[in-house]
Amino acid sequence: MSPGEISEIIKNHILAAGFDRCGLTGATELSHEKERLRRWLERGCHGEMDYLVRNFEKRTNASLLFEGAKSVAVALMSYSGADTPEGDSEVPVVSRYITSVDYHTVLKDRLHQALAAVKEELPDIRGRIFVDSAPVMEKALAVRAGLGRQGRNSLLIVPGGGSFYFIGTIVFNLEAEYDAPDLSDPCMSCRKCIDACPTGAISEEGFLNAARCISYLTVEKKREIPGEFMGELRNRLFGCDICQDVCPHNSNSAPCSVEELRRDGRLDSMTRQEWEELTPELFDNLFTGTTVERCGYDTFMRNVRFLKQR
Ligand code: SF4
Ligand code: SF4
Repeated sequence: MSPGEISEIIKNHILAAGFDRCGLTGATELSHEKERLRRWLERGCHGEMDYLVRNFEKRTNASLLFEGAKSVAVALMSYSGADTPEGDSEVPVVSRYITSVDYHTVLKDRLHQALAAVKEELPDIRGRIFVDSAPVMEKALAVRAGLGRQGRNSLLIVPGGGSFYFIGTIVFNLEAEYDAPDLSDPCMSCRKCIDACPTGAISEEGFLNAARCISYLTVEKKREIPGEFMGELRNRLFGCDICQDVCPHNSNSAPCSVEELRRDGRLDSMTRQEWEELTPELFDNLFTGTTVERCGYDTFMRNVRFLKQR
């Protein structure tokens, strides 16, 4: 079978599994991105996320993910559609990506469906699925696979679709026909995200200092949030979408079409007082099966306390 036919089979089944877009690229070293990642780590932009230092070679070269890896299929699923409140003083904001079901579960299930269907047509194919579960540079691979470009806010911007996408990958052991990388500049003279970021986490050159980013501070950071950010979180309780909300590419973002990724409306109506009085039982009721469950009650309540001190 030709690489073009293999590519068509893979893409068809990934799209049939409910993904909005799919592109293919070779599992090779990401040499440019590797140097950029090295500089980013040297500057300490990763904060306490030491896992980003580990497996550096593997992270920048998908061929090392398993013996015989040749191709990477990158699959995008939109989660746009839920408008989060502006963050007035009575309505703390939980980020848009907190959907009714943990997106890792949804994407993995769908990718497994797609892989099973591909195997029926290509019995010799082997594939491994990754959704934030291994050292994979999903956004860089998505760019290589022709799906868009990274904007100054570091996020993948999909032409005509915006940036509210979850990314999953399947690494295959067969060569396929690859998509041409998108070489356009999605930002041009725009700097809306730089100006809007409350903590100054985005630099002119598009280097995102995760150690200053509210998403990192409220989700990834294990210790206390540093006092210098007091009053700077714009009422963001878990995650932050400000640099996406202001991005012109999201004015017509592609709507989410997957039922499990719909937003639980209760998250957007809870008052400040209700969050402050959240019990472990209510936390479980709201967040079991969602991405917030991974961070746990104690971390979540640390964020609530931090906002209270503003
Ligand atoms: S997510 Fe929020 S804090 Fe992080 S870079 Fe974007 S606007 Fe800044
Ligand atoms: S807001 Fe402007 S500068 Fe920032 S990512 Fe979007 S287009 Fe680029």
